[in-house]
Amino acid sequence: MVVTFCFVVAVKSRCIPRCALRGALLFPVCFNLFACESDDGPGPVEAAEPEVAPVNDVVPADPIGPSSGLPPNELGEIMVLEYHRLGEPEGEFHRSAKNFRGDLERLYEAGFRPITVRQMVSGDIDLPRGTSPVVFTIDDSSLGQFYLLDDGTIDPNSMAGIWEAFQREHPGWEGGATWCVLPAADYPSNFFGERPRREVAKEVREERIQRKVDYLIQNGHEICNHTLYHARLDKAKDDLWVQEWIGRGEDSVRVYLPEDYDIATFALPLGMWPKNRELAKRGVYKGREYSYDAVLEVTGGPSESPFSVEFDPFSIPRVIVAPGALTRKLDRYRTHPSTRYVSDGLPGTVAIPATDAHRFAQDRWPDRARKVTGDSPSEGL
Ligand SMILES: [Zn+2]
Repeated sequence: MVVTFCFVVAVKSRCIPRCALRGALLFPVCFNLFACESDDGPGPVEAAEPEVAPVNDVVPADPIGPSSGLPPNELGEIMVLEYHRLGEPEGEFHRSAKNFRGDLERLYEAGFRPITVRQMVSGDIDLPRGTSPVVFTIDDSSLGQFYLLDDGTIDPNSMAGIWEAFQREHPGWEGGATWCVLPAADYPSNFFGERPRREVAKEVREERIQRKVDYLIQNGHEICNHTLYHARLDKAKDDLWVQEWIGRGEDSVRVYLPEDYDIATFALPLGMWPKNRELAKRGVYKGREYSYDAVLEVTGGPSESPFSVEFDPFSIPRVIVAPGALTRKLDRYRTHPSTRYVSDGLPGTVAIPATDAHRFAQDRWPDRARKVTGDSPSEGL
C-alpha cells in the first residue's frame, strides 16, 4: 500500500550568495510523504551450486551486549530507519522522546547495532557475530533532533542527547546515525535551530551549528545532503536548478565540515527524483563537482544487503518509523528470521546461506571471500 501525503509551506526560488548562507537562512521548507512498505516475505529461491572460498581461521569475538542468536546471513535485509521530528502527538513525522529511546532499546535487545549509510554502501559492516546492522537516518535537521543547553552540554531530551546517553549505558552500541540536513530551511528545520533564526544572533547560531556538526563527525555519525531547503527536484525547471539545489546545499553544509570530509549520501526530498536521475548521483554546481555513493528513497521497506546482486546503492529504500512500523518489522524478524542480515563477525568474509549463494554480488566485492554457511539461514550456527 502506498499513501502519499505532502504539504508545502512555501519555497523561494531566489538565490542567496554562498557567503551569506551561514547566517541568512531564508527559506521555508516542504514536508512530507509516506508510504507503507510491503511485509511480504521473500519468494522462493533456487538453490545454487555452493562455492566455498578459502577463509582464514580467525575466530570471531563474542558480541558485547545482546545478540540475535541466529546463524550468519550477510545477504539478509537491512532496515534503514527514517526519523523526522521528535515530539508528540506521534504520527508519520513525529516520534516521541520516550518511543525514540524505546526504539533504541528494543533494537539493542534484539541484537541490532547501528551503522551509517556510508558504512553500509562501502561494506564496512564490522559487527560481532550474531548481531545485525541497522541504519538510523534522521531527516531535515528539524525540531527536537539536536539541542544544546546553556552550559554547552547536549540536551538530554533531544535525539542526539538520547542517543549519547543510550550509548553510554549500552556496551556494544558504538556506531552513529546518518543526519540528512537542510542548511537553508526555515524554523523548525533550520539546521538544528532551537529557535527561529530571527531570535538568535548570527554568530551564536553559526557557532552552535559548528559545535553540533563537530560533535557528530567526531562521534561516528554521518552528515548527509538533503538539498538546500527541501525543494522537490521533480519540480525543477531544468537541470541547472537541480544541480543548484543539490550543489548549493552541499556547499552550505561544507562550511561546517572538515576540509577533507566526503559527503557520501544524498537523500531525495520527498523521495522525488529529478527528471534527469543522474543528477541525484552526480553533477556540477559553480564549476565544482558533487557525487554520491548512496541515494536514499523515502519509503520502500527494508533494504537489500549491499552484498546482494539486487542492491542498488543509488536507490536505497527506507522504513519510516511511524507508529507501529518498527514493531511490525521486529515481529516479522521473529517469525521470518531468515530475512534478516546477521553478521558472522568476520569483516573480510561474506557469510551466505547455501540457498542464496547465487545472490552474492562477487563482481562488486572482488576482495571479499564468500563463505557458504549451511542449507538455510535457520540452520548452521
Ligand atoms: Zn526530508
